[in-house]
Amino acid sequence: MKINLAKSAGFCFGVKRALEIALKTAAKEKHVEMLGDIVHNEEVVNQVKKTGIKKIKRLSKGKGKILLIRAHGTSTDTYKKVRDLGYKIIDATCPMVREIHKIAKENEKKGYRIIIIGDKKHDEVQGILGQLNKKALVIDSSKDIGKKVKEITKGAVIVQSTQNLEKTLKIVKALDKQIEKLKFFNTICEPTRTKQKEIKEMAAKNSLMIIIGSKTSANTKRLYEISKSINKKTFWIQSKNEVKSLWFKKVVSVGITAGASTPEDTTQDIIKQIRKIK
Ligand code: SF4
Repeated sequence: MKINLAKSAGFCFGVKRALEIALKTAAKEKHVEMLGDIVHNEEVVNQVKKTGIKKIKRLSKGKGKILLIRAHGTSTDTYKKVRDLGYKIIDATCPMVREIHKIAKENEKKGYRIIIIGDKKHDEVQGILGQLNKKALVIDSSKDIGKKVKEITKGAVIVQSTQNLEKTLKIVKALDKQIEKLKFFNTICEPTRTKQKEIKEMAAKNSLMIIIGSKTSANTKRLYEISKSINKKTFWIQSKNEVKSLWFKKVVSVGITAGASTPEDTTQDIIKQIRKIK
C-alpha cells in the first residue's frame, strides 16, 4: 500500500512563527502569560506549558510580566488593557491576520459595513471584530444572509483566514445579489489555500484519506469536510491509537494530511502505525 503525505501537511507559517516566538520568550523571561491556548492542539499546548508559560483566563496586575499575543491576534481593547495593567507585550499575531485587521479598519474608515465570513466564536474572528468601531456582520453560511443584509448598501467582505474557499465564494455570490456596492477581499491565507487545493487532488486520487489534527482545530475540520465530500473513506484522527486496521482492507493508496497546528511528530507516529498494519 502506498502512503502519500501531503506536501503542505502540518504547521503553517503563522503557527511555526508563533511557537518559535513563545519558546524564545520562555527561554529568556520568567513571568510569561498567555490568554488561552497558543494553538488548537493538545500536544503543542503541553509543550508550551512545560516551558513555564502560564495560560490565564483573565488579566491581572502586569508589572514585571510579559503577555504573549497568540497567532490568532486580539482586539484593540485587549492591547490597551494589557498595556494599562503594566504588562510588556510580545506579539505573535500572524502577519496574515494583521493584514486582515488592516483591510477591515481601512474599509470601515471609507464607510463600508464590514462583513466577515467566518465562525463568530473563533478567536481570530473575535480579534477582527475587536479592531472595528462599528458592529460588523459575521456570516457563516449562505442561509445566514436573509434579512441581515437588507439595510446594507455598501459592504466590504473579508474572510477568516482558514475558511473553505468554495463555500466562501458561494456566500459572496449570494451577497453580491443583495448589496448594491460590494467589495470582496479574499483573505483566506496562502497556506490554507494550498492545503485545500492539495486535499482536493489527494482525495480524488487515493483510495483512503486520513486527516490528522485536534478536534478543536477549525482548519483541520475544514480539510476533513472537503476530503469527505470527495472521498467517503476519509477519517479524522488525532493520534496513532485511533488508527484501525479494518480501514485498510483492499486499500491501495492512502493520502495523509495534517492541520496547520498538528506537530510533525504526531504525523510521523501515525505513518509508522499504518506501516505496521500494512
Ligand atoms: S492559518 Fe494562515 S493566518 Fe492562521 S496562523 Fe496559519 S498562516 Fe497565519
